[in-house]
Amino acid sequence: MKLELIQGDLTKVAADAIVNAANSSLLGGGGVDGAIHRAAGPELLAECRLLGGCPTGQAKLTKGYRLPARHVIHTVGPVWQGGTHSEEATLARCYKSVFAQVQAHGLRSVAFPSISTGRFGFPIDRAAPIAVREIRAAFARLPQLEKVTVVLFSPWDLEAYQRALSAAPGENV
Ligand code: ADP
Repeated sequence: MKLELIQGDLTKVAADAIVNAANSSLLGGGGVDGAIHRAAGPELLAECRLLGGCPTGQAKLTKGYRLPARHVIHTVGPVWQGGTHSEEATLARCYKSVFAQVQAHGLRSVAFPSISTGRFGFPIDRAAPIAVREIRAAFARLPQLEKVTVVLFSPWDLEAYQRALSAAPGENV
C-alpha cells in the first residue's frame, strides 16, 4: 500500500518528512505542533524563527533535527468558521503546498497528521475525504512519491479516515 493509515504518534515516524499542523507564526504551539518541537529540540525553533511565519494554506520546509524524520514540512491549516469561509478549499491547498515541497526536495516518503481537526476545529468527517483526495492526486502527479502515511492520534480519528478511504476507492492504495 502506498497510502497507509495508522494510529500513533507522528513524532516517532521515520520518513523523509513529517508534516506539522502549525500556526502562522511557526513559533510552536500545542497539539501536534508542540509535540514536534519537543521531540525535534530547540534547533527546530531556531530555524523556524528565520522563516518569518507562514500564511494559511502554504507550507515551508525545515530540517528534522532530533526527530527520526529528516525534514519537517510546516503547513498552516484553516481555522473552521462554520464552513462558509472556503475552509475546504484552503485545506486542499495545504496538501497541495506540502506536496509542492515534497516535489521540490525530491522526497519519497511523507507522513501527515490530521491537519486542522484539532484546535482549529475542522470536522474530521469533512477533512478526511479532502486529505484522501489530495494524497491520491499527488501519487498521480509525482512519480518519485513512494509512500504517504497519515498518522491519527485516536482510534476515532483513524476510523474517520478509514471511512473516507473506503468511500472513495481508487488506485494507488
Ligand atoms: P490544528 O491546529 O491544525 O487543528 P492540532 O495539533 O490541534 O492541529 O490537531 C491536529 C491533529 O493532530 C488532532 O487530531 C490531534 O489529536 C493530532 N495530534 C496531536 N498530537 C499528535 C501526535 N503526536 N501525532 C499525531 N497526531 C497528533
